[in-house]
Parts: sequence; C-alpha cells; structure tokens
Amino acid sequence: TQFLNSIELIEKIDNRQKRNQDRGNQKPEKQNSFRNVPNTDWNLKANRDWLKEVKSGWENPEDIEGTVITIIGGKAGETREEISLEGWNGKHPWKYQLATTGDYSHFLGLESTWNKKTASERAELLKMAAVEIEKNRGELMAVAVKELGKTFDEVDVEVSEAIDFANFYAESAKEWENLAERNIGDGVHLILSPWNFPLAIPIGGVLASLAAGKRAILKPSTNATATAYLISKCLWAAGITQEDFAFLPTEESNLDEFLSSGNTFDAVILTGGTDTAKFLLKRNPELKLYAETGGKNSTIVTSLADREQAIKNVVQSAFGNAGQKCSATSLLILEEEVFEDAHFKTLLKDATMSRYFGNPWNNETNIGPLGMPVSDKLKYSIEHTPDEQWLIKPKLNGDFFLSPGIKWGVTSEDYEYQNELFGPVLSVMKAKNLKEAVSLANGVEYGLTSGLESLDPQEVEYWKQNIKAGNLYVNRSTTGAIVLRQPFGGIKASSFGFGMKAGGLNYVGQFMTFNEPDLTL
Ligand code: GLU
Repeated sequence: TQFLNSIELIEKIDNRQKRNQDRGNQKPEKQNSFRNVPNTDWNLKANRDWLKEVKSGWENPEDIEGTVITIIGGKAGETREEISLEGWNGKHPWKYQLATTGDYSHFLGLESTWNKKTASERAELLKMAAVEIEKNRGELMAVAVKELGKTFDEVDVEVSEAIDFANFYAESAKEWENLAERNIGDGVHLILSPWNFPLAIPIGGVLASLAAGKRAILKPSTNATATAYLISKCLWAAGITQEDFAFLPTEESNLDEFLSSGNTFDAVILTGGTDTAKFLLKRNPELKLYAETGGKNSTIVTSLADREQAIKNVVQSAFGNAGQKCSATSLLILEEEVFEDAHFKTLLKDATMSRYFGNPWNNETNIGPLGMPVSDKLKYSIEHTPDEQWLIKPKLNGDFFLSPGIKWGVTSEDYEYQNELFGPVLSVMKAKNLKEAVSLANGVEYGLTSGLESLDPQEVEYWKQNIKAGNLYVNRSTTGAIVLRQPFGGIKASSFGFGMKAGGLNYVGQFMTFNEPDLTL
C-alpha cells in the first residue's frame, strides 16, 4: 500500500485546504520528517471568518453532540450512572455517563491485536488521527471553551500540540522499532488526565501509549469529559478501534480495585496533583506510575534584562489560561534594582490591566474564567493579604470569574511562596542578587519550569548551572512547551515514578519492551 504522509492527507481530505495553505502549512522536505504544525494566524481574515462560523454552530452545543456523552469501548448492557455538571457558563448542556468497574474489566480482558501491528501500521493510524484532529480544529476549540472557559487562543495552541503529539509519536514508534529487534510488550495503559489542558494532555498520553504498542484507556477529569470525548472521536474516526482505545470516564473510587495493588496496567500516565501521585504510590508502590504533577515556578528578572520584554513574557506566563498551568510563572523574583524601579512596576501593572478579562466566548478575551470553582488556596491568599500589598487586587465574581491579581513584596515566609494557587495571582519577590534569586527559586518543593530574563551570558550560564527545574526558559515565557523543541517534564515534587519528558525523543521508547538479540554465536 502506498501510505500518504499526514500533510498529503490533509490536502486530500481537508475541505479547508485553502485555509491551511493560508495558514502557512508547508510540505515537509522529506516524507515522514516531523514538523510542528502552525497555530491559526488570526491576522488573516479567512481565519477570523472561519472562527465566526464555528462559533455560530456552537451557540447551542446540545444540538451538536446529543445530550449524553457516552462510554466507548465498555461492556454492552451495563447500567451506568449519569451526571451533569456546572461550569463557568452555568449548567453544562451535556449529561455524562460514568463507566463502571465492569466496563474496565471488560476492556482489560479483550484479546489484543494492536500489538501485532507493525510500528509503521500504528504510525499511519496515528497520522490519520492527526488529520482528523486538524479537520475538527474548530469544533475542538469550541467545546473546550464552552466546557472549561479557556480562551480561543489557548485552545488553538492545544489543538496544534495534539496534532504534533500524533505525528511525532508516530515517527518515534518507527524509529525505536528500527533500532531494536522487536517490540514484544503488550498491555494496557491508563491515562488520567487533567482539566486545564483538556485536549493535548489526554490525547498525548493515549497516542504515546498506542505508538508503543499498548492499548489505552482514557479517564479524563470529569470536568473535561465533553472535550476529551470529542478529541477521542478523532482517533476512532482515524481507524483506531474501540478494542484498542476506550473512553471510560468515571469517579476515582471506581478504579480502586485496579490501582490499589499489583500491576493491572503496564503504565498509569497521570497529569495532575502532587497529592494524587503521592497517594497512588503510597497505596501501591508497585504501580508503574508516570506522573507529571504540580509546579511553583519562578521567573527571575535581573538588572541586566530587557525589562519590557520581561514584562511581556511574565504576563503571558502568569495569566495565560488564567494561571491554570503547571508551567505558569507564579513567583516573579526581581533583582533589587528592578524591584525598586517604579517604571517597571507601573508597566507590569499596565500590561496586566490591559489584558481582556471576561467571557471566553468573545474573541478578544485573553484571560477567561477558572475551569473549576475557585479553590480554597486562592480564597485563602485573597482573604489573608492586606489591601495595600496588592499591586492589583484580584476580584472574585461568582465562583468562576477571578480577575488577575499581583501581590507585591512576598517573602519566603508567605503562604504564596510554597503553595501552588493555580489561578491568576502572581507573587512578586525581591532578591539582593542573582544568587539569592536562584536560591529563592530553588527553595520551593517543586521543580517544573523556570524562567530567566537577562541579556548577560554570564548570568545565563550561572542560572543554567544552578537552577533546579525540568524546563528552563531564557528570555521567553515559561509556558507553552512545543513538541520536540521543548520536551516537557519536571523534577523534585513535579514528577513521580518513572518518566521521560512528554514530547521528547525517548517518551515512546520508555514504554516498549524489546526481545533480546541472540548473542551466543
Ligand atoms: N505543557 C504545558 C506548557 O508547557 C503545561 C502543561 C501543564 O500545565 O500540565 O505550558
């Protein structure tokens, strides 16, 4: 069979071919070489018109998806609980079915044919999935905005990341199998995904598992069920079967019998809370857990930084997705001279206030509501901070709408120093010099991302040698890692169990088991 690469398939299948060309998609130079796909260019009128059209079709989501988000790949004839949830927009138009333990046992007991496929066959299906995801870009964006209050800009980037995961892991599968004798491992992976990246993270874990020859079950955060469902549909549409990949959202307690002892799953891929990872491992030390957890990330700005550039990057890192990213900058550590610079302070305030905060369904909004009702940690911080310490005081309107806040002069004694607030609140700290700034940055429990703003090569070198975090960014925001260019993962309390970085060269290979070559000649 003559397989087409994904770009050629896009050209054949995508009836928005013109739009994609406008968006600057180019053919890879050689077949099968990985290229990141571009995000939508909102400067082009064609793209803005396209979004308008997508949105008009999603004013009433129940018309599109039916009212019930169903289990796929579960056991026939199960009686399932149905729940409905509330989000930023009020009650969701969908009801969600919850999978039973019977659904899980059924899928686990299926005869696997997935592992019998060659890496190239699996890779082609993944590339078809990439095409399906691109074809549904608009719908995927719309459902994520409706369900979780993300902004269109943020979800567009996520769709691109999901496509990159599909294409990149497809290539990885082939490379690993070319290197080794034969991938003999089969088994089932469980993917436990969060609500803050409802598209890229669930599907990234599923795609990596499938690439490695494992079957996969996705259990998304219940709050992100509709979005996870819609992107899962792209995989089945691509030809991956319900026997290979199942969508089984459920309450955590339904998983106890599979997770509390032994090794039911070949891997459990968790992106979520540090406490969840600690709990799972403590209860069952045998669990093959690959967990990316919290962050308390800093950006350091030295006196040798381009200060305006620094402000732009920090505002993006702190308030993108309303600060609800594990990668977000939540500590801004300023070298004394910058801390005392009144102009810097004014600019930081203005840059934050000039972001549009509000309804995410409006195109211009770049800080939307929270994905979950305001947390106790955020409330604690707001209630226990004296008014005069706020450079910008965050205001809570209802449970979901929290406007951005900046707390000035936070010290290592303060609540905000160690606690991940996971919201649009930035804490600004003062350090005597770079050395002290690095030690403040390293003094937290976590080690996920870290940023430095400095134009001085010696400072950059010192920081690189001494900072303790998984992803380091110089003169760039600390969020928005790009597949292959910035494989993503942390150290310290930001990472548990096994685990190479997601979107990196070894991510798929770590899940494979190879038979030993015969060395007894
Ligand atoms: N990969 C995302 C980024 O670089 C963060 C993912 C997360 O929040 O878990 O911004």
